[in-house]
Amino acid sequence: MDLGRWQVDLISAGTLALDGGAMFGIVPKPLWEKKIPADEKNRIPLDTRCVVLRDGERLVLIDCGMGTQWNDKERDIYRIDAHLDASLAAVGVTPADVTDLVLTHLHFDHAGDTARLDAAGTPRLTFTNARVHVGRRAWELAHAPNERDRGSFRAQCWAPLDGAERPRVVLVDDRDGRASILPELDAMVCEGHTTGQLLPLIGAADQRALYGADMFPTRAHVPVPWHMGYDLRPLVVMEEKRRLVELCVAERITLIHEHDTRFPTSSLSRSATGELSAS
Ligand SMILES: [Zn+2]
Repeated sequence: MDLGRWQVDLISAGTLALDGGAMFGIVPKPLWEKKIPADEKNRIPLDTRCVVLRDGERLVLIDCGMGTQWNDKERDIYRIDAHLDASLAAVGVTPADVTDLVLTHLHFDHAGDTARLDAAGTPRLTFTNARVHVGRRAWELAHAPNERDRGSFRAQCWAPLDGAERPRVVLVDDRDGRASILPELDAMVCEGHTTGQLLPLIGAADQRALYGADMFPTRAHVPVPWHMGYDLRPLVVMEEKRRLVELCVAERITLIHEHDTRFPTSSLSRSATGELSAS
């Protein structure tokens, strides 16, 4: 896929499984399980789909999955299978090739592989040559989480960034819900799921895709009321989703689903009667 200046690869950093009820908020199970069936522990399978962008100069990675800092019990609870390096290798990339890592937010299933433990047990940056772009307000929240989303942050995943000098860490500022990261790589900034989440908008003109992160984690999450129980601000999520859906329909922007194991992308359209469909 080409989007403007960028050659684009969608790759899987691995899979996990989370509680289906938590993934679908107030949607009743008989409805959501028709879309994504649950296992015997009520968990649904999720991908951690990342984006690799190349323009001949930069190599950008958007989000990096769960990473490797998990013990056996945690791997079992979340059914973790992390394999970012193999997926990067399949498109000819090593972690050292990444020039820019963009983190939509710092929840563990998005920023988990920012650091790995070395032989001495010290966390070291995985992408040794990359600048790391993260929303300023998402960064601040992650360093002072509230009781509701504390469990979604694991500081050891990004610990080496805390002492890192600028410009190793680029704190992205936003204005009127938009931010600029790199040429032809902007972001829509959302407050509903977590504070200052970046949804990268890739490409230019009629070749654009929106990385849905935790606003549109799967195709089943396209309908406005179908959103996660994890969201900090549910009513804000719904408003933001409504706006983003209309933007994607009106401007023919492809949606990329970070967590959908079956549908990597969706094209949104409205029928003559106004019905929204995703295919
Ligand atoms: Zn999240």
